[in-house]
Amino acid sequence: MDIREHIPLAPLTTFHIGGGARYVVEVKSEEEVGAAVAYARDRRLPFTVLGGGSNVLVSDSGFDGLVIHIVSGSFSFEGDVLTAQAGCNVLALIHAAAKNNLGGWEKLAGIPGSIGGAVRGNAGAFGSEMKDFLVSARAIDSVAGEAREFAASECDFSYRHSFFKDNPQWIITSAQVRLVQTAREESERLAAETIAEREKRHLQHVRAAGSYFMNPIAPPEVVALFEQEKEVRAREGRVPAGWLIEKVGMKGARVGGAKASEQHPNYLVNESGSATAHDVRTLAQHIKDAVHMRFGVVLKEEAAML
Ligand SMILES: Cc1cc2nc3c(=O)[nH]c(=O)nc-3n(C[C@H](O)[C@H](O)[C@H](O)COP(=O)(O)OP(=O)(O)OC[C@H]3O[C@@H](n4cnc5c(N)ncnc54)[C@H](O)[C@@H]3O)c2cc1C
Repeated sequence: MDIREHIPLAPLTTFHIGGGARYVVEVKSEEEVGAAVAYARDRRLPFTVLGGGSNVLVSDSGFDGLVIHIVSGSFSFEGDVLTAQAGCNVLALIHAAAKNNLGGWEKLAGIPGSIGGAVRGNAGAFGSEMKDFLVSARAIDSVAGEAREFAASECDFSYRHSFFKDNPQWIITSAQVRLVQTAREESERLAAETIAEREKRHLQHVRAAGSYFMNPIAPPEVVALFEQEKEVRAREGRVPAGWLIEKVGMKGARVGGAKASEQHPNYLVNESGSATAHDVRTLAQHIKDAVHMRFGVVLKEEAAML
């Protein structure tokens, strides 16, 4: 294992924020993840997992332990099932599947990050979620050091949630997804269409972690106000966090180098590149307080804190 010391973490994240790690090790396979966990355990080092770094805010003091960085690994197809090591990039897998005339999951195109991270957070967009395609995931219990397979039905998926989010001792090492026969050109066209739609609606190339807060379940009167104003039905009683942020007048709000984006207020962006984690957390707290005071809604972070 190539364990490196004193590594800046900011460049490993899309936020580009945060201090360094005492140790970082890059791993791909289940064996390598297991070896990294054993290394940390033997030395009583705290450890944490990083995938694509697209949904994480690293603290300014960094991480005084071992960061197990799961990077792009191998994948294979058997019939219409794709098996990929956890570090594989989701968009790269969508393209690879298209080459094999397999698709169905093109609405996930453009969600940054690894398939392991996507399973852990049940990543989704435009009505598709990772859970719609997952057959099973393999994961290692970092306490017992043993790996096992989880059928999708055991993953406790719901909106931006899975068993793995509640149980971070389990590290996902690979995922199997079931796709459908789709002509290569058609899958590529659908993926390109999705990416174009994302470019239009969302901010794609910003220093941020995507949506900072999850869309909360809101009281009926807040849902009614949203539906009336936007003329759309709220899904599962949830209203967009970005809409709430705008309603409390915090679109464009700033703390230090952090800003609630004008275009998509639920993106807290490191606009100048000089924002600290403290800036982001302070801005997030101001937003939470304002939304709670006005609507009685408690916003919860979607981005993980490291
Ligand atoms: C511009 C932009 C747009 C985005 N759009 C969307 C969107 O449309 N929909 C959406 O759902 N998300 C979106 N996101 C958020 C992000 O892309 C997803 O949450 C993604 O699935 C995170 O994967 P990752 O590999 O980058 O995870 P990381 O950021 O590396 O990690 C996030 C958390 O998952 C844990 N983790 C990572 N890998 C594993 C693993 N193998 N096993 C166990 N735990 C693991 C980490 O410890 C951490 O707690 C967006 C982000 C950005 C920057």
